[in-house]
Amino acid sequence: MVGSFLTRRRFIEAGGSIAATSLIASAGTAAPGQTSGAASVKGQPMPDGVKLPATPPRPRAPDSVGFAIVGLGGYALNQMMPRFKDAKRAHIAAIVSGSPEKLQRVGDAYGIPANARYSYEDYAKLASDKRVDAVYIVLPTGLHADWAIRAFAAGKHVLCEKPMALSSADCERMIAAGKRANRKLMIAYRSHFEPYNLEAMRLMKEKAAGDIRLLRTEQSYRMGPTSPAENWRTSRALAGGGPLEDYGIYGLQSALYLTGEMPESISATTFRPTGDPRFAEIFAHVSSQWRFPSGAVAQLVSSYDSAGINFAEVRGTTGVLSMNPATSYAGQKMQLNGRELTPGDPGVQFVGQIDHFANAVRDGTPILTPGEMGLRDTRLIEAIYESARTGRTVKLAPDAKMRA
Ligand code: NDP
Repeated sequence: MVGSFLTRRRFIEAGGSIAATSLIASAGTAAPGQTSGAASVKGQPMPDGVKLPATPPRPRAPDSVGFAIVGLGGYALNQMMPRFKDAKRAHIAAIVSGSPEKLQRVGDAYGIPANARYSYEDYAKLASDKRVDAVYIVLPTGLHADWAIRAFAAGKHVLCEKPMALSSADCERMIAAGKRANRKLMIAYRSHFEPYNLEAMRLMKEKAAGDIRLLRTEQSYRMGPTSPAENWRTSRALAGGGPLEDYGIYGLQSALYLTGEMPESISATTFRPTGDPRFAEIFAHVSSQWRFPSGAVAQLVSSYDSAGINFAEVRGTTGVLSMNPATSYAGQKMQLNGRELTPGDPGVQFVGQIDHFANAVRDGTPILTPGEMGLRDTRLIEAIYESARTGRTVKLAPDAKMRA
């Protein structure tokens, strides 16, 4: 793979994993007015290679939570929607898309009634659709905040893809809207439901590598030729600074849940080559160095222009925990002091988060990955960009809202 461009699909098939994106005003990628356009919804063609179900969904539990899927893109169609059939307490009740073709084909395949297939223009009508308890926002990141807030206004609970939004101000608006509506908000951080990462958290808490001294994470792949007009992941308005928000967020999360600490200082650097349409608005690489109150230090790297890797490693006083790939859809590998660990099937992470959210909606159980966690992470992303922009180390005041 080294030295060749990868499409996102090929990288995932090769065992990597990708996530979301976000815009930080201080990112300094492009001057205001130089972005590829406003963040507005726009239906897209059916992605290549989507396998729609051949059989209708099975009967569901009487208290099953009905979800409206908002945005029928690659992740929704290839990963999340097929997992609903395994959910104990959730089902797809409606779909929302800007593509009439997808509304018909996906709606038919999933047995969604014709009057539960919504365009973005009809979104507000969800308010009177009693079949829908919650919406799952799987839109480009720059659209998460507004469409989550509209869902709350319609009285629905919200499961929102990562990263939560493009700025901490937007995250705060989402949290406030959820509270006003008295509805739940969860960020779809799937690694919190994935056996390898759960085991890694447990091992680090038990000091299986001793006291943590060093942590390194790297999430990278080489993006094929594209431009902001063609691919929202390279548009500042929809994707923020780029690789950090989309993919490096997994490393950021790992650094927090493996150490169990919040950093007290961050220094960072970014790189954006000139003359490459992929990086007209976003960064090619983002690298940051963190110091934790315990004295541990972390190095986090993310890139859209280097050979693919999805890696996390913790070095403690007595041992090493290594994860590669660390947070993929499947194929995780993990070693503790050279010993291979196989704690379970990573495939359960998708339905795990769906049922976790459904239980929170029905029973009021606490959400492991709430909006406050998305806000915390967005603030850290902002600190990374502030350090890169100013060339200074950013000191972070201990803050209850920013707990690891
Ligand atoms: P895609 O580009 O494949 O799909 C996005 C969909 O959003 C489109 O198909 C379209 O659906 C809708 N859309 C509405 N407005 C726009 C617009 N202006 N530009 C582009 N699309 C638009 O993206 P992904 O599915 O890969 O990502 C969607 C979200 O899921 C992101 O937040 C991403 O970070 C997250 N994600 C999370 C992953 C994880 O592992 N947790 C992995 C991958 C993505 P339609 O045609 O139906 O209107």
